[in-house]
Amino acid sequence: MTVVTRFAPSPTGFLHLGHAHSALAGWRRAREAGGRFLLRIEDIDQTRCRPVFEDAILEDLAWLGLDWDGPVRRQSEHWDDYRAALAVLEGQGLIYPCFCTRREIQAEIAAMQSAPHGSAPHGPADTPDGSPLYPGTCRRLSPRERADRLAEGRAYALRLDMAEAMRRAGRLSWADELAGEQVARPERLGDVVLARKETPTSYHLAVTVDDEIQGVTTVTRGLDLFEATHVHRLLQALLGYRVPVWRHHALLTDAAGRRLAKRSDAAAIRAFRAEGRSAAEVRALAGFPD
Ligand code: GLU
Repeated sequence: MTVVTRFAPSPTGFLHLGHAHSALAGWRRAREAGGRFLLRIEDIDQTRCRPVFEDAILEDLAWLGLDWDGPVRRQSEHWDDYRAALAVLEGQGLIYPCFCTRREIQAEIAAMQSAPHGSAPHGPADTPDGSPLYPGTCRRLSPRERADRLAEGRAYALRLDMAEAMRRAGRLSWADELAGEQVARPERLGDVVLARKETPTSYHLAVTVDDEIQGVTTVTRGLDLFEATHVHRLLQALLGYRVPVWRHHALLTDAAGRRLAKRSDAAAIRAFRAEGRSAAEVRALAGFPD
């Protein structure tokens, strides 16, 4: 089987060393296996993405000596693909609209924690990325309440009914080339958002759909997305997709051991270029000496 990897940056800033590490990890994995390396621009958040950053990403990757196979896939050109996947999940009765604001979710959690008999849900109160676990408020709305809120024209997110989705999918596992076999634990992220009123996808749904459509066999990305993989594995099962392997690499840190921030200009590839560093030097700084 041909190995197919991808690099999937969001054009919300300039590429820095951490991105270069990720891109090189995917590129090397594919090239060493005689496989294909794809490039995908993850621009569903149209408020934060800028064409100027996308142009810069392509230019910086080429300068680093990376080449990719086939056309670049731009998520904002494929809304219909995400709508179709969402419709499948909706057809399975696994999606519900959530009208809660962030503030309402926090208030609900606080109220549950202070209730006399402690009605807070079991398990961690926060998801691994630090955001609170959604307490399921809108999952319990009656059809009538739901219809009324929709008729009012209120904003909403579309969430996955996690418990029901897991029940349907049964026990799932997935494999990481570095960390080994994993039992899927998507409940750690709770009822994740899969789309919003104005946007027919979220990160989780778009990545799962794109990796399937692009035939990615080996998902290379940073360890910061390890927890998200549990959810992606579940979505693959619900949508009847093929199951890739994953390869979550360690995150680059600065000299003080701190993780490189996404928009840390000090480590921007173009800053090194402007300083007159060679591409080979920057590849070495990004953890891939020739
Ligand atoms: N677009 C994501 C990011 O820039 C990466 C998504 C992925 O590799 O799955 O962090």
